[in-house]
Amino acid sequence: MEKNKSLFHRLPAVIGLDHAAEKYAYANTEEWGIIAKEKAAEKWVRTTCGYCSVGCGMFIGVRDGKAVSVKGDPGHPVNYGKLCPKGLAEHHFLNAENRAKYPLLRKKRVSWNEALNVMVQQFRQVQQKYGNNALGVLSTGQLVTEEFYALGKLVQLGFNTRNYDGNTTLCMASAVAGYKRSFGSDGPPGAYEDMALADCILLIGANIADNHPILTCWLAANENPNKHLIVADPRATKTAQMADTFLPLKPRSDVALLNGIMHLLVRNGSHDKAYIETHTTGFDALVKSLAAFTPEHTAAVTGLPVQAILKTAAVIAQANALFVGWSMGVNHSDQGTETVNAINNLCLMTKNIGRPGASPFSITGQCNAMGTRETSCTASLPGYRKFESLKDREDVARLWNVDITEIPDKRGYAYPDIIEAVVQGEIKALWIIATNPIVSFPNQKFLRDALSRLEFLVVQDGFHPTPTTELADLVLPAAIWGEKEGTYTNSERRVSKANKAVNAPGEAMADFDIFLELARKLGVVEKIYPGWRNVADAFGEWRQVSKGRLCDYSGISYELLDQYGGIQWPFPAEGKSAPEQTRRLYGDGVYQHDDQKAKFFPVINKEMPELPDEQYPFVLNTGRTVEHWHTMTKTANVEILQKLSPEAWVEMNPADAERLGLRQGEYVRVVSRRGTIEKIALRITGIIGFGQVFIPFHWFRTNANNLTLNAFDPYSREPNYKQAAVRVEKASG
Ligand code: SF4
Repeated sequence: MEKNKSLFHRLPAVIGLDHAAEKYAYANTEEWGIIAKEKAAEKWVRTTCGYCSVGCGMFIGVRDGKAVSVKGDPGHPVNYGKLCPKGLAEHHFLNAENRAKYPLLRKKRVSWNEALNVMVQQFRQVQQKYGNNALGVLSTGQLVTEEFYALGKLVQLGFNTRNYDGNTTLCMASAVAGYKRSFGSDGPPGAYEDMALADCILLIGANIADNHPILTCWLAANENPNKHLIVADPRATKTAQMADTFLPLKPRSDVALLNGIMHLLVRNGSHDKAYIETHTTGFDALVKSLAAFTPEHTAAVTGLPVQAILKTAAVIAQANALFVGWSMGVNHSDQGTETVNAINNLCLMTKNIGRPGASPFSITGQCNAMGTRETSCTASLPGYRKFESLKDREDVARLWNVDITEIPDKRGYAYPDIIEAVVQGEIKALWIIATNPIVSFPNQKFLRDALSRLEFLVVQDGFHPTPTTELADLVLPAAIWGEKEGTYTNSERRVSKANKAVNAPGEAMADFDIFLELARKLGVVEKIYPGWRNVADAFGEWRQVSKGRLCDYSGISYELLDQYGGIQWPFPAEGKSAPEQTRRLYGDGVYQHDDQKAKFFPVINKEMPELPDEQYPFVLNTGRTVEHWHTMTKTANVEILQKLSPEAWVEMNPADAERLGLRQGEYVRVVSRRGTIEKIALRITGIIGFGQVFIPFHWFRTNANNLTLNAFDPYSREPNYKQAAVRVEKASG
């Protein structure tokens, strides 16, 4: 850890993003003088960033009960004091005008008592009329782990509905499903320091410079003079521009690339026969499936030169430690799960797992997407237990002191299927927590139609109005990051503490307290939250529930988190002291399947669900930009980020723009079979390939999800956000 710290400190201030960056944004020195005075904190509260899954440690500066500043935590083992632009301006949204402050019933202010009575009464009425599963719940990756654990119990044992999922299905469900299929359990096997220790780093569909900026520091901390960074992406992203080898592959050809690499590794005998024999099953079937992926065939499918494929395979074959990182470029596909399996296949056959520098590594999205994966009752029972396993259900029933019949034996509908069930009239009431589907869900027309059919819609959020709270029958105002306490787990399984620095505005309550109140109204508070008063009580129970599981928290305490800034699980009560925590999983070659072996899955590349044609000739790719966060409920309130990135754009290759007679910066119209963006600025750039366009999805008025389609991964149910057929034409007016 000390070594990592010194490597970080030798780096320049991260991509120029220290406090000085904010100063430079204010050209007027007088204005800066006033700001500097207002930013002088009376106290600093240690916490963890509430945006992305990197999980940077930071401090919130407080003055007169208000958040006035933030700074990186130099002792935190993730970021050693560095922050990206969003983190650096994170305090601003706490004071935003559009914070939700009071419960609103059909837009009229009501008391909390009335709001929760109406909610319980409406939900029960719907359930009595149509059955328990007529209630759907959509949550988030933004709550603290203790809240996810409490919510899972409330949904299953209080509201008794199975139809509960999170917006995490929109970003990393394919990583979860892929890990489960390959290794028998969810749980990223590696650590960030593996990026600093690997000889070869392959980033596939992961633009970390925009989406997980502090991870670029871990790349820069790699001291190996021969290290090789390979970036595979259809766009020449900022991350691609850092690469030793950039592979600008065609959209939806990542499986072919991975298969082509594995074909060559097998052909040249660069796979680890002893490891495959001892620790895996299914290799023969995999080898058969790879036969067709000759370099020539792979080149034809990916659009890459044969030489590039041969060189990539050679670099990987020579690497003592290979790190394969992926993010939404892989997950946002209706073949996402299988693509994750192909990545796992590559790492397993070369024994690049469970060793320093070697891991198949999913880079998650939201600050606590991992927390909901571990504790909630969406895709798994708490502690990565399986709904289908009698033993796992017995375990949970015993730990919760309830009858086993109260534990569902299969998961309910996933997010898109909940929306489909609303359209079909099966789900009549919906509770949406800390998410904004009116911007984030694909095919907006379909979603709006679905929500209009509901008998009762509750939206619980820290902000109002948002495009989604505007549609709610009942709005519940919630405290957000900086206003409540709990833990987050980041992408490397590191649990860190988030702390309260300021009070929530108006009557907004912590989600945890809302769940407790609802349990009281339902008459189940002592049954599901026995003796609980605060999040520490929930954390105490969760430690016991996780004991002995892969994600064992039993040795983690708030005190240890304070002391070390973050601890990676598993961290059992017996055994390790914090500095010796478990860096990586599966180092012993023992996997979570019943036979303790990992599984190979043959994967054949599938076509995009909608191919371009004469009417819609472009492939639309969607993504993010470093300045904004998801649907901008937070970053729209941060002036400096708005100044840096004020509006959306569509990227188009110069050759395509010339053919269509379009000019740099003019406004264009983008049309798909499902909807239209009437007016969006054109950015002509070689970053994007011929026949493709790219739009960042954050903005409501130029919502890329007017264009995206209803196509979902069959295993994970994650949407195919990355490819839809569109046409681009001059905007009118
Ligand atoms: Fe926050 Fe992620 Fe930026 Fe770190 S990289 S400061 S966790 S948004």
